[in-house]
Amino acid sequence: MAAGRRVALVTGGMGGLGEAICVKLAALGYVVVTTCSPSNTRAEQWLRRMRERGCDFHAYPCDVGQWQSCVACVKRITDEVGPVEVLVNNAGITRDMTFRKMDRASWDAVMHTDLDSCFNMTKQVCDGMVDRGWGRIINISSVNGQKGAFGQTNYAAAKAGMHGFSKSLALEVARKGVTVNTISPGYIGTRMVMAIPREVLDGKIIPQIPVGRLGKPEEVAGLVAYLASEEAAFVTGANIAINGGQHMQ
Ligand code: NDP
Repeated sequence: MAAGRRVALVTGGMGGLGEAICVKLAALGYVVVTTCSPSNTRAEQWLRRMRERGCDFHAYPCDVGQWQSCVACVKRITDEVGPVEVLVNNAGITRDMTFRKMDRASWDAVMHTDLDSCFNMTKQVCDGMVDRGWGRIINISSVNGQKGAFGQTNYAAAKAGMHGFSKSLALEVARKGVTVNTISPGYIGTRMVMAIPREVLDGKIIPQIPVGRLGKPEEVAGLVAYLASEEAAFVTGANIAINGGQHMQ
């Protein structure tokens, strides 16, 4: 089947990385669907801006941390757009603080949004992919899930958990034409990272990156596009680092 007929669902597509992923997949001919979270107040504006760039995206409300919300969201997408053949679990949050200061709410919020979301969303699309004999599940983790990070016991645990999920599901669906992979980006120059004071970026962060710069959202999007492609059929259960050499395993 040509990429032009495939539906790709990117959670958190209105964020820094998600937008680049949506634009790349649209350029390749996928029908791109994204989610907007309960706190999102700029969905219409974003959709308009994307239309002006020639991208006609579909957006559906969803709290990826809540099971019922995911059930309802994917049902609507399936009915109104078509079955999801590429799922990019990209939505994520941080609630950084040292473990000794971390409260239960900050732990739960990150676990729900960053890890439960993989179960909640993948569960809605996995059976269909298996039945059709083709599917791509791509989980956006983080370098901090691989190496740990000060103040991120919640985030690092959730992001490491994503890869355990990917490896196990990859084994279960490998014979069914469905691949499941993790991407672990390092520092990418999204609005969130660019908001870090220039002296901190130049003095502390960029010196840790052997390539000598931040990553570009388009570079992560290119990797997502590869994993979604026909050519990537033999790549499954992988955790692909894209971090400018900051961390190597
Ligand atoms: P942003 O904060 O720009 O985007 C995060 C997206 O997640 C938003 O679009 C938001 O949706 C969505 N989201 C948050 N909570 C929910 C929820 N409960 N339900 C549905 N959607 C939700 O972050 P980035 O684009 O930078 O990050 C994208 C992913 O990449 C994250 O998983 C992050 O952990 C990971 N990552 C990012 C790195 C970076 O350097 N930027 C490095 C490593 C990993 P909405 O806009 O609708 O509110």
